[in-house]
Amino acid sequence: MQPLDLGPVAELVLLGAHCDDIAIGAGATVAVLATANPGLRVRALVMTGGGGPREDEERAALAALLPGADLELQVLGLPDGRLPEHWSVLKTAVGALARGPRPDLVLVPGRDDAHQDHRAVAEIAPTAFRDALILGYEILKWEGDLGRAPVLHPVPDELAELKVAAITTHYPSQAHHDWFDREAFLALMRVRGVQCHQRYAEAFTAEKLVLSVGRPATTPTTPTTPTTPTTPTNKE
Ligand SMILES: [Zn+2]
Repeated sequence: MQPLDLGPVAELVLLGAHCDDIAIGAGATVAVLATANPGLRVRALVMTGGGGPREDEERAALAALLPGADLELQVLGLPDGRLPEHWSVLKTAVGALARGPRPDLVLVPGRDDAHQDHRAVAEIAPTAFRDALILGYEILKWEGDLGRAPVLHPVPDELAELKVAAITTHYPSQAHHDWFDREAFLALMRVRGVQCHQRYAEAFTAEKLVLSVGRPATTPTTPTTPTTPTTPTNKE
Protein backbone atom coordinates (compact mmCIF):
# COMPACT_ATOMS: atom_id res chain seq x y z
CA MET A 1 0.00 0.00 0.00
CA GLN A 2 1.25 3.49 -0.85
CA PRO A 3 2.22 5.18 2.43
CA LEU A 4 1.39 8.79 3.25
CA ASP A 5 4.72 10.38 4.15
CA LEU A 6 4.52 12.65 7.17
CA GLY A 7 7.73 14.41 6.19
CA PRO A 8 10.07 16.10 8.66
CA VAL A 9 8.76 16.53 12.19
CA ALA A 10 10.40 19.25 14.27
CA GLU A 11 7.72 19.80 16.92
CA LEU A 12 5.93 16.90 18.58
CA VAL A 13 3.27 17.09 21.28
CA LEU A 14 2.42 14.05 23.41
CA LEU A 15 -0.64 13.92 25.67
CA GLY A 16 -1.42 11.18 28.17
CA ALA A 17 -3.85 10.70 31.02
CA HIS A 18 -1.53 8.47 33.05
CA CYS A 19 2.17 7.86 33.24
CA ASP A 20 2.72 4.92 30.83
CA ASP A 21 -0.08 5.81 28.34
CA ILE A 22 2.30 7.38 25.83
CA ALA A 23 4.84 4.56 26.03
CA ILE A 24 2.22 1.84 25.71
CA GLY A 25 0.27 3.54 22.95
CA ALA A 26 2.98 5.13 20.85
CA GLY A 27 6.36 4.28 22.33
CA ALA A 28 7.81 2.82 19.16
CA THR A 29 6.45 5.63 16.99
CA VAL A 30 7.92 8.19 19.36
CA ALA A 31 11.28 6.42 19.09
CA VAL A 32 11.03 6.41 15.28
CA LEU A 33 10.28 10.14 15.28
CA ALA A 34 13.27 10.89 17.51
CA THR A 35 15.56 8.73 15.40
CA ALA A 36 14.41 10.20 12.09
CA ASN A 37 14.37 13.83 13.24
CA PRO A 38 17.58 14.80 15.06
CA GLY A 39 16.94 17.63 17.48
CA LEU A 40 13.24 16.83 17.67
CA ARG A 41 11.50 19.09 20.17
CA VAL A 42 8.96 17.22 22.29
CA ARG A 43 6.46 18.72 24.69
CA ALA A 44 4.68 16.06 26.73
CA LEU A 45 1.82 16.56 29.16
CA VAL A 46 0.51 13.82 31.46
CA MET A 47 -2.45 14.54 33.71
CA THR A 48 -1.91 12.25 36.72
CA GLY A 49 0.97 10.94 38.80
CA GLY A 50 2.85 14.21 39.27
CA GLY A 51 5.25 14.63 42.18
CA GLY A 52 5.64 10.95 42.96
CA PRO A 53 7.28 7.74 41.82
CA ARG A 54 5.04 7.49 38.78
CA GLU A 55 6.41 10.77 37.46
CA ASP A 56 9.93 9.41 37.95
CA GLU A 57 8.95 6.32 35.96
CA GLU A 58 7.53 8.46 33.16
CA ARG A 59 10.62 10.64 32.95
CA ALA A 60 12.89 7.60 32.71
CA ALA A 61 10.75 5.86 30.11
CA LEU A 62 10.34 8.88 27.83
CA ALA A 63 14.05 9.65 28.07
CA ALA A 64 14.77 6.10 26.92
CA LEU A 65 12.32 6.40 24.03
CA LEU A 66 13.54 9.83 22.89
CA PRO A 67 17.32 9.69 22.58
CA GLY A 68 18.70 13.03 21.44
CA ALA A 69 15.37 14.83 21.59
CA ASP A 70 14.71 18.06 23.44
CA LEU A 71 12.08 16.77 25.87
CA GLU A 72 9.93 19.00 28.05
CA LEU A 73 7.67 16.87 30.27
CA GLN A 74 4.95 18.19 32.56
CA VAL A 75 3.15 15.75 34.86
CA LEU A 76 0.08 17.08 36.69
CA GLY A 77 -1.25 15.67 39.93
CA LEU A 78 -4.91 15.19 39.04
CA PRO A 79 -6.63 12.13 40.54
CA ASP A 80 -6.45 8.90 38.57
CA GLY A 81 -9.90 7.78 37.43
CA ARG A 82 -11.50 11.19 37.92
CA LEU A 83 -10.33 13.28 34.97
CA PRO A 84 -13.80 14.03 33.58
CA GLU A 85 -14.53 15.85 36.86
CA HIS A 86 -11.51 18.08 36.20
CA TRP A 87 -12.39 19.13 32.67
CA SER A 88 -11.59 22.78 33.27
CA VAL A 89 -8.08 22.05 34.57
CA LEU A 90 -7.46 19.74 31.61
CA LYS A 91 -8.70 22.35 29.18
CA THR A 92 -6.47 25.02 30.70
CA ALA A 93 -3.39 22.80 30.70
CA VAL A 94 -3.85 21.56 27.14
CA GLY A 95 -4.72 25.07 26.01
CA ALA A 96 -1.49 26.43 27.46
CA LEU A 97 0.46 23.81 25.56
CA ALA A 98 -1.39 24.68 22.36
CA ARG A 99 -0.33 28.31 22.65
CA GLY A 100 3.30 27.25 22.27
CA PRO A 101 5.06 26.42 19.00
CA ARG A 102 2.79 24.87 16.40
CA PRO A 103 3.26 21.08 16.48
CA ASP A 104 3.77 19.03 13.33
CA LEU A 105 2.05 16.13 15.07
CA VAL A 106 0.01 15.60 18.24
CA LEU A 107 -0.35 12.10 19.71
CA VAL A 108 -3.20 11.52 22.16
CA PRO A 109 -5.25 8.58 23.43
CA GLY A 110 -7.97 7.40 21.06
CA ARG A 111 -11.41 8.93 21.32
CA ASP A 112 -13.08 5.47 21.55
CA ASP A 113 -10.96 4.31 24.48
CA ALA A 114 -12.98 2.57 27.21
CA HIS A 115 -11.22 4.42 30.04
CA GLN A 116 -12.86 7.70 30.96
CA ASP A 117 -9.55 9.44 31.69
CA HIS A 118 -8.19 8.56 28.24
CA ARG A 119 -11.39 9.76 26.58
CA ALA A 120 -11.30 13.06 28.46
CA VAL A 121 -7.84 13.85 27.11
CA ALA A 122 -8.81 12.66 23.62
CA GLU A 123 -11.85 14.89 23.52
CA ILE A 124 -10.08 18.03 24.69
CA ALA A 125 -7.07 17.74 22.38
CA PRO A 126 -8.82 18.79 19.14
CA THR A 127 -10.52 21.70 20.88
CA ALA A 128 -7.12 23.15 21.76
CA PHE A 129 -4.98 22.01 18.80
CA ARG A 130 -7.53 23.10 16.23
CA ASP A 131 -5.29 23.09 13.19
CA ALA A 132 -2.89 20.25 13.94
CA LEU A 133 -2.54 16.67 12.77
CA ILE A 134 -3.84 14.63 15.72
CA LEU A 135 -3.49 10.86 15.87
CA GLY A 136 -5.09 8.75 18.58
CA TYR A 137 -3.01 5.89 19.96
CA GLU A 138 -4.42 2.64 21.38
CA ILE A 139 -3.67 1.66 24.98
CA LEU A 140 -3.48 -2.05 25.67
CA LYS A 141 -5.23 -2.89 28.95
CA TRP A 142 -7.77 -5.14 30.63
CA GLU A 143 -10.79 -3.54 28.98
CA GLY A 144 -11.66 -5.07 25.61
CA ASP A 145 -11.73 -1.90 23.59
CA LEU A 146 -9.27 -2.61 20.81
CA GLY A 147 -10.94 -2.10 17.48
CA ARG A 148 -10.28 -0.90 13.97
CA ALA A 149 -7.36 1.47 13.77
CA PRO A 150 -7.09 2.78 10.21
CA VAL A 151 -3.69 4.47 10.51
CA LEU A 152 -0.87 1.93 10.67
CA HIS A 153 2.74 2.88 11.31
CA PRO A 154 5.31 0.12 10.70
CA VAL A 155 8.19 0.25 13.17
CA PRO A 156 11.61 -1.40 12.93
CA ASP A 157 12.17 -4.51 15.04
CA GLU A 158 14.79 -2.79 17.18
CA LEU A 159 12.48 0.09 18.07
CA ALA A 160 9.62 -2.27 18.86
CA GLU A 161 12.05 -3.99 21.23
CA LEU A 162 13.14 -0.62 22.62
CA LYS A 163 9.52 0.20 23.41
CA VAL A 164 8.94 -3.08 25.21
CA ALA A 165 12.19 -2.73 27.14
CA ALA A 166 11.30 0.83 28.17
CA ILE A 167 7.87 -0.25 29.41
CA THR A 168 8.97 -3.36 31.28
CA THR A 169 12.03 -1.64 32.78
CA HIS A 170 10.75 1.76 33.77
CA TYR A 171 7.23 1.13 35.10
CA PRO A 172 7.73 -1.26 38.04
CA SER A 173 4.59 0.14 39.69
CA GLN A 174 2.52 -1.49 36.93
CA ALA A 175 4.23 -4.87 36.88
CA HIS A 176 1.50 -6.44 39.05
CA HIS A 177 -0.98 -6.36 36.17
CA ASP A 178 -1.22 -9.86 34.71
CA TRP A 179 -1.07 -8.44 31.16
CA PHE A 180 1.84 -6.07 31.68
CA ASP A 181 4.54 -8.08 29.98
CA ARG A 182 6.77 -8.27 26.94
CA GLU A 183 4.62 -10.85 25.18
CA ALA A 184 1.46 -8.74 25.30
CA PHE A 185 3.05 -5.53 24.03
CA LEU A 186 4.93 -7.27 21.23
CA ALA A 187 1.81 -9.25 20.29
CA LEU A 188 -0.30 -6.17 19.67
CA MET A 189 2.45 -4.62 17.55
CA ARG A 190 2.73 -7.93 15.66
CA VAL A 191 -1.02 -7.96 14.94
CA ARG A 192 -0.89 -4.39 13.67
CA GLY A 193 2.15 -5.38 11.60
CA VAL A 194 0.14 -8.17 9.99
CA GLN A 195 -2.38 -5.55 8.89
CA CYS A 196 0.24 -3.61 6.92
CA HIS A 197 2.52 -6.44 5.70
CA GLN A 198 5.24 -5.65 8.20
CA ARG A 199 6.52 -7.43 11.26
CA TYR A 200 5.64 -4.77 13.82
CA ALA A 201 3.48 -1.66 13.69
CA GLU A 202 1.57 0.69 15.94
CA ALA A 203 -1.97 1.71 15.11
CA PHE A 204 -3.78 5.01 15.39
CA THR A 205 -7.07 6.66 14.67
CA ALA A 206 -7.11 9.98 12.88
CA GLU A 207 -9.05 12.91 14.22
CA LYS A 208 -8.87 14.49 10.76
CA LEU A 209 -6.53 14.12 7.78
CA VAL A 210 -5.98 16.65 5.00
CA LEU A 211 -4.35 15.27 1.88
CA SER A 212 -1.88 17.13 -0.29
CA VAL A 213 -1.68 15.85 -3.85
CA GLY A 214 0.57 18.19 -5.77
CA ARG A 215 0.73 21.92 -6.27
CA PRO A 216 -2.39 23.92 -7.01
CA ALA A 217 -2.44 25.65 -10.44
CA THR A 218 -1.32 29.26 -10.02
CA THR A 219 -0.98 30.52 -13.59
CA PRO A 220 -4.11 31.31 -15.68
CA THR A 221 -4.15 29.32 -18.91
CA THR A 222 -6.06 31.90 -20.99
CA PRO A 223 -5.32 35.43 -19.82
CA THR A 224 -7.67 37.96 -21.42
CA THR A 225 -5.59 41.03 -20.75
CA PRO A 226 -1.84 41.56 -20.54
CA THR A 227 -0.65 41.10 -17.02
CA THR A 228 2.63 41.45 -15.25
CA PRO A 229 4.60 38.19 -15.12
CA THR A 230 3.77 36.08 -12.13
CA THR A 231 5.92 33.60 -10.31
CA PRO A 232 4.38 30.23 -9.43
CA THR A 233 4.09 29.82 -5.71
CA ASN A 234 3.10 27.14 -3.26
CA LYS A 235 1.11 29.55 -1.14
CA GLU A 236 -2.47 28.51 -0.54
ZN1 LIG B 1 -3.96 5.13 31.11
